[in-house]
Amino acid sequence: MNIIQCQFCKKPFASLRGKVCPACLTQIDQDFIKVRDYIYDHKQTNIDVVAEETEVSKQIILYLLKEGRLIIDSPDGDGGGILQCEMCKKSISTGRLCKGCTGKVATSLDKNVSGGNTAQKSASAQQDLKASAKIGTKQ
Ligand SMILES: [Zn+2]
Ligand SMILES: [Zn+2]
Repeated sequence: MNIIQCQFCKKPFASLRGKVCPACLTQIDQDFIKVRDYIYDHKQTNIDVVAEETEVSKQIILYLLKEGRLIIDSPDGDGGGILQCEMCKKSISTGRLCKGCTGKVATSLDKNVSGGNTAQKSASAQQDLKASAKIGTKQ
């Protein structure tokens, strides 16, 4: 188990997955409902207004946008420049990649799958499973 610093409250915690501690995750889930309902009623808004009206910190709203749990529509359809595609830096309204780059990533994944020997792949997947089971019993 990894002890890391929470991305929001900066407290150290034992992380199984992600960079946010359980307390902040609970808070974020509550904030998520507020923000989601606000955006549902006020389409085509922007992050500053949302943060002000819902009293949820921008940091949390950004986190939810990057996780793809929220989408803020802007009149020009680029998310108002809140988020950028991590590959081509184009403005996007949700997630980490723009549609174009998501397509590119999907295509290259497809190639990897169809190009490989499937029998070999499943054998090595089983080995992976055994390996992780061993790690599990050690702890
Ligand atoms: Zn925290
Ligand atoms: Zn892109």
